[in-house]
Amino acid sequence: MPKPSLPSPMPVTAAAESLPVVAGPPVGAPRRATRKDSAQAVAAQVDVQVAPVRIVARTAAPPKAVPVKVRYDCSKCPGYCCSYDRIEVKPRDVARLARHFGLTPEQAERRFTRLWAPGERILRHQSDDVYKSICRFFDRTERRCTIYAARPAVCREYPNGNKCGYYDFLMFERGHQDDETFIPSA
Ligand code: SF4
Ligand code: SF4
Repeated sequence: MPKPSLPSPMPVTAAAESLPVVAGPPVGAPRRATRKDSAQAVAAQVDVQVAPVRIVARTAAPPKAVPVKVRYDCSKCPGYCCSYDRIEVKPRDVARLARHFGLTPEQAERRFTRLWAPGERILRHQSDDVYKSICRFFDRTERRCTIYAARPAVCREYPNGNKCGYYDFLMFERGHQDDETFIPSA
Protein backbone atom coordinates (compact mmCIF):
# COMPACT_ATOMS: atom_id res chain seq x y z
CA MET A 1 0.00 0.00 0.00
CA PRO A 2 1.56 3.35 -0.96
CA LYS A 3 2.47 5.71 1.89
CA PRO A 4 0.09 8.67 2.21
CA SER A 5 2.00 11.80 1.20
CA LEU A 6 2.11 14.70 3.60
CA PRO A 7 0.57 17.97 2.39
CA SER A 8 3.33 20.29 1.25
CA PRO A 9 3.77 23.47 3.32
CA MET A 10 2.08 26.56 1.93
CA PRO A 11 4.68 28.66 0.10
CA VAL A 12 5.33 32.07 1.58
CA THR A 13 3.93 33.83 -1.48
CA ALA A 14 0.75 31.79 -1.36
CA ALA A 15 0.43 32.59 2.32
CA ALA A 16 0.80 36.26 1.52
CA GLU A 17 -1.82 35.91 -1.23
CA SER A 18 -4.36 34.76 1.30
CA LEU A 19 -3.98 37.90 3.42
CA PRO A 20 -6.39 40.82 3.05
CA VAL A 21 -5.28 43.37 0.48
CA VAL A 22 -4.86 47.08 1.18
CA ALA A 23 -3.37 49.69 -1.11
CA GLY A 24 0.03 50.98 -0.02
CA PRO A 25 2.01 54.06 -0.96
CA PRO A 26 3.67 54.29 -4.40
CA VAL A 27 6.97 52.46 -4.61
CA GLY A 28 9.85 54.67 -3.58
CA ALA A 29 7.62 57.31 -1.93
CA PRO A 30 8.86 58.49 1.49
CA ARG A 31 6.67 57.02 4.22
CA ARG A 32 4.98 59.43 6.60
CA ALA A 33 3.36 58.65 9.94
CA THR A 34 -0.34 57.95 9.55
CA ARG A 35 -3.32 57.64 11.84
CA LYS A 36 -3.02 53.87 11.48
CA ASP A 37 0.56 54.06 12.81
CA SER A 38 -0.64 55.73 15.99
CA ALA A 39 -3.48 53.21 16.32
CA GLN A 40 -0.99 50.36 16.01
CA ALA A 41 1.32 52.02 18.56
CA VAL A 42 -1.58 52.26 21.04
CA ALA A 43 -2.59 48.66 20.29
CA ALA A 44 0.98 47.52 20.98
CA GLN A 45 0.99 49.32 24.32
CA VAL A 46 -2.24 47.66 25.46
CA ASP A 47 -1.12 44.27 24.04
CA VAL A 48 -3.89 44.02 21.44
CA GLN A 49 -3.33 41.72 18.43
CA VAL A 50 -3.35 43.62 15.14
CA ALA A 51 -4.28 41.44 12.17
CA PRO A 52 -1.43 41.25 9.61
CA VAL A 53 -2.20 42.85 6.26
CA ARG A 54 -0.54 42.47 2.88
CA ILE A 55 0.69 45.82 1.53
CA VAL A 56 0.23 46.14 -2.23
CA ALA A 57 2.36 48.82 -3.88
CA ARG A 58 0.31 51.30 -5.91
CA THR A 59 2.44 52.20 -8.88
CA ALA A 60 1.59 54.93 -11.39
CA ALA A 61 0.78 53.57 -14.86
CA PRO A 62 3.50 54.57 -17.38
CA PRO A 63 2.31 57.30 -19.78
CA LYS A 64 1.21 55.92 -23.12
CA ALA A 65 3.25 57.02 -26.15
CA VAL A 66 0.89 58.79 -28.55
CA PRO A 67 1.98 58.30 -32.18
CA VAL A 68 2.17 61.60 -34.05
CA LYS A 69 1.15 61.47 -37.71
CA VAL A 70 3.43 63.53 -39.93
CA ARG A 71 1.31 65.64 -42.30
CA TYR A 72 3.88 66.43 -44.98
CA ASP A 73 5.83 64.41 -47.52
CA CYS A 74 9.26 65.78 -48.42
CA SER A 75 9.50 63.37 -51.37
CA LYS A 76 6.77 65.46 -53.11
CA CYS A 77 8.50 68.77 -52.38
CA PRO A 78 11.41 70.33 -54.30
CA GLY A 79 13.19 71.07 -51.00
CA TYR A 80 12.07 74.58 -50.22
CA CYS A 81 13.46 74.58 -46.66
CA CYS A 82 16.96 73.79 -47.99
CA SER A 83 16.84 77.02 -49.97
CA TYR A 84 16.75 79.23 -46.84
CA ASP A 85 19.69 81.63 -46.87
CA ARG A 86 20.40 81.30 -43.20
CA ILE A 87 20.87 77.64 -42.22
CA GLU A 88 22.81 77.96 -39.01
CA VAL A 89 25.58 75.57 -38.02
CA LYS A 90 26.88 75.27 -34.47
CA PRO A 91 30.30 73.86 -33.53
CA ARG A 92 28.66 70.46 -32.88
CA ASP A 93 27.27 70.47 -36.44
CA VAL A 94 30.68 71.36 -37.85
CA ALA A 95 32.26 68.53 -35.82
CA ARG A 96 29.66 66.08 -37.20
CA LEU A 97 30.32 67.24 -40.76
CA ALA A 98 34.06 66.92 -40.17
CA ARG A 99 33.65 63.31 -38.97
CA HIS A 100 31.38 62.52 -41.91
CA PHE A 101 33.92 63.75 -44.45
CA GLY A 102 37.09 62.72 -42.56
CA LEU A 103 38.22 66.32 -42.13
CA THR A 104 39.35 68.46 -39.21
CA PRO A 105 36.67 70.79 -37.79
CA GLU A 106 38.69 73.75 -39.10
CA GLN A 107 38.71 72.29 -42.62
CA ALA A 108 34.98 71.49 -42.46
CA GLU A 109 34.17 74.96 -41.18
CA ARG A 110 36.14 76.60 -43.98
CA ARG A 111 34.83 74.35 -46.74
CA PHE A 112 31.14 74.08 -45.83
CA THR A 113 30.25 77.21 -43.89
CA ARG A 114 30.57 80.97 -44.03
CA LEU A 115 30.12 83.77 -41.54
CA TRP A 116 26.62 85.30 -41.46
CA ALA A 117 27.08 87.57 -38.43
CA PRO A 118 29.68 87.78 -35.67
CA GLY A 119 29.57 84.41 -33.89
CA GLU A 120 27.10 82.85 -36.37
CA ARG A 121 28.06 80.52 -39.21
CA ILE A 122 25.73 79.23 -41.91
CA LEU A 123 25.92 76.54 -44.60
CA ARG A 124 27.30 77.61 -47.95
CA HIS A 125 24.94 77.60 -50.94
CA GLN A 126 25.05 76.68 -54.63
CA SER A 127 22.92 77.96 -57.50
CA ASP A 128 19.59 76.24 -58.15
CA ASP A 129 17.14 76.29 -61.09
CA VAL A 130 14.08 76.03 -58.85
CA TYR A 131 14.83 78.40 -55.97
CA LYS A 132 17.83 80.28 -57.47
CA SER A 133 20.05 79.27 -54.54
CA ILE A 134 20.08 76.20 -52.29
CA CYS A 135 22.28 74.46 -49.69
CA ARG A 136 25.54 73.12 -51.09
CA PHE A 137 24.65 69.63 -49.82
CA PHE A 138 21.41 69.49 -51.80
CA ASP A 139 21.23 67.13 -54.78
CA ARG A 140 19.60 69.36 -57.43
CA THR A 141 18.57 66.44 -59.64
CA GLU A 142 17.15 64.09 -57.02
CA ARG A 143 15.92 67.05 -54.93
CA ARG A 144 17.14 65.66 -51.63
CA CYS A 145 19.84 66.06 -48.97
CA THR A 146 23.10 64.22 -49.66
CA ILE A 147 24.29 64.20 -46.05
CA TYR A 148 21.07 63.22 -44.29
CA ALA A 149 22.80 61.32 -41.45
CA ALA A 150 25.23 64.19 -40.85
CA ARG A 151 22.90 67.16 -41.39
CA PRO A 152 22.93 70.01 -38.86
CA ALA A 153 20.59 70.11 -35.88
CA VAL A 154 18.46 72.88 -37.39
CA CYS A 155 17.68 70.62 -40.37
CA ARG A 156 16.76 67.76 -38.02
CA GLU A 157 14.33 69.93 -36.10
CA TYR A 158 12.60 71.50 -39.09
CA PRO A 159 9.62 71.99 -39.44
CA ASN A 160 9.34 71.71 -35.65
CA GLY A 161 6.03 69.85 -35.61
CA ASN A 162 3.93 67.43 -37.61
CA LYS A 163 3.00 70.03 -40.24
CA CYS A 164 4.98 72.06 -42.75
CA GLY A 165 3.52 75.38 -43.88
CA TYR A 166 5.22 75.27 -47.25
CA TYR A 167 3.95 71.74 -47.92
CA ASP A 168 0.36 72.83 -47.22
CA PHE A 169 0.86 75.81 -49.55
CA LEU A 170 2.38 73.55 -52.23
CA MET A 171 -0.48 71.05 -52.05
CA PHE A 172 -3.07 73.82 -52.13
CA GLU A 173 -1.50 75.41 -55.22
CA ARG A 174 -1.09 72.07 -57.00
CA GLY A 175 -4.72 71.24 -56.34
CA HIS A 176 -5.76 74.72 -57.49
CA GLN A 177 -3.70 74.47 -60.70
CA ASP A 178 -4.67 70.81 -61.18
CA ASP A 179 -0.97 70.09 -61.74
CA GLU A 180 0.90 67.65 -59.51
CA THR A 181 4.27 69.10 -60.56
CA PHE A 182 3.48 72.78 -60.16
CA ILE A 183 6.00 74.71 -58.03
CA PRO A 184 4.71 78.05 -56.75
CA SER A 185 7.13 80.87 -56.12
CA ALA A 186 7.25 81.23 -52.35
S1 SF4 B 1 9.72 72.55 -47.14
FE1 SF4 B 1 8.59 71.08 -45.85
S2 SF4 B 1 7.88 69.48 -47.25
FE2 SF4 B 1 9.50 70.65 -48.28
S3 SF4 B 1 11.37 69.48 -47.93
FE3 SF4 B 1 11.20 71.07 -46.32
S4 SF4 B 1 10.12 70.03 -44.63
FE4 SF4 B 1 9.83 68.78 -46.42
S1 SF4 C 1 22.17 69.94 -44.90
FE1 SF4 C 1 20.70 68.74 -46.03
S2 SF4 C 1 18.76 69.07 -44.99
FE2 SF4 C 1 20.14 70.70 -44.31
S3 SF4 C 1 19.75 72.41 -45.70
FE3 SF4 C 1 21.45 71.22 -46.55
S4 SF4 C 1 20.50 69.81 -48.01
FE4 SF4 C 1 18.90 70.60 -46.66
